[in-house]
Amino acid sequence: MKKETLENKRMEEIISLCKRRGFIFQGSEIYGGLGGVYDYGHYGSLLKNNIRDSWTKNMIDAREDVYELDSAIFMQPTAWIASGHVGNFDDPLIECRRCHNRMRADTVLESFGIVADKMPIDFINSELNKLKAEKKLKCTSCGQTDIADAKKFSLMIKSNFGSPTDELKEENVVYLRPETCGGIYLQYKNTIDSLHPKLPFGIAQVGKAFRNEIAARQFVFRTREFEQMEMQYFISKKDTEEKYNMWKDTRMKWYLENGIPQEKLRWYKHEKLAHYASEAYDVEYNFTCFGGFKEVEGIHARGDWDLSQHSKFSGVDLSYFDEETKERFIPHIVETSVGLGRLVLMFLDYAYTEDELGGEKRVYLKFNPKIAPVKIAVFPLLKNKPILVEKAREVYKNLKNEFGSVMFDDNGNIGKRYRRQDEIGTPYCVTVDFETIEKDGMVTVRDRDTGTQERIKIESLSEYFNKKF
Ligand code: ATP
Repeated sequence: MKKETLENKRMEEIISLCKRRGFIFQGSEIYGGLGGVYDYGHYGSLLKNNIRDSWTKNMIDAREDVYELDSAIFMQPTAWIASGHVGNFDDPLIECRRCHNRMRADTVLESFGIVADKMPIDFINSELNKLKAEKKLKCTSCGQTDIADAKKFSLMIKSNFGSPTDELKEENVVYLRPETCGGIYLQYKNTIDSLHPKLPFGIAQVGKAFRNEIAARQFVFRTREFEQMEMQYFISKKDTEEKYNMWKDTRMKWYLENGIPQEKLRWYKHEKLAHYASEAYDVEYNFTCFGGFKEVEGIHARGDWDLSQHSKFSGVDLSYFDEETKERFIPHIVETSVGLGRLVLMFLDYAYTEDELGGEKRVYLKFNPKIAPVKIAVFPLLKNKPILVEKAREVYKNLKNEFGSVMFDDNGNIGKRYRRQDEIGTPYCVTVDFETIEKDGMVTVRDRDTGTQERIKIESLSEYFNKKF
């Protein structure tokens, strides 16, 4: 089988499992779907919440120097002019003249080994022309070679906030935010004035962002509506290197602690930096479903650009007065920025496993228990025996009180339940049977990854799972 086919197959398998087991659905599916928009079902929501909570715990709760914010999606439109988004937040678009398939020119060039990310449109067109001359540039959909020149395509999505839809004039356009950090810069001053933090300190938030992506065909890796988890760390310029490295280490450890092994991760250093930036690295993960490394998170040293721009455009002084040194300056920023949906896909990609158990092929998701949507499932061996159901319900209730995401499952026979829980990625299943009641007060605990089963006393389950988790 060709490499490409393997990758496509894995992506299809993940998409199909996500639909079959209620993780992720195509948005507006009954109307034929809406491109680049996905909805999270029960298990997808639980998984996403666990990833978000792990990030929040690590980035906010476990620290003294990072505060939380939940800013609005809509912002005063001038803020997006100040940030450069209205003028420059675009991707180079190329279109096939025959089938009108739209492609991102920088991604196409990258497939030929040409680094084109954030490069000027002239550079992109001259590289495309070289490929055209060699008849190498082909439509990714129909394969023909008549491709139009690249043009800029704005990623900003406009709304008619406060004005009728048929009067959407430039002067009353309001944007759906393309990133969450904008709200952090705008509330930097209120945070300082209300919480009085000393530098260095950070503001973090999780929220929705919207981008009119040219080619949103990579499941939840790239969507037009998505959630971001971003943190802006305000520092004095002289501390940039030290704090930048501290955040690089902190973020890499987070991936390892959530079960992604080091060999599946690497750093990608940006060679072409924005004029204000001094350092930019991406965390890349080696996706089986794409057949290679792709960006999951960006860590950027952004200088004093953001606060300076907002200070200039709003007319409000956003400088900081350092009581110790008696200096006044605009703080510099180190940012960490990651997409929650992209992380969901990373964890699904890593967890997806096929093997043979008891002579049968099976699929299971080997999630780290920390992020598994369900940690324990409890079954009565037979669902029509009240004595088993009652005991199983009692075990379930106690475990749920202690471990939270515990599920009661009595659908189908035991084999079917194991298969379902394997595909949901539940690390442990607990079965109450006749021996539990009549003989020893013990239940069977089955391990997802090995399929091995142990008999454990009901009273010892709490201790047993506390050790496991
Ligand atoms: P790309 O080059 O993939 O378009 P980017 O470099 O523009 O991404 P940033 O603006 O740095 O991305 O956004 C930070 C993070 O937000 C990304 O690392 C990614 O995890 C997430 N992200 C960005 N765009 C999307 C999207 N359309 N769908 C899902 N996640 C996204």
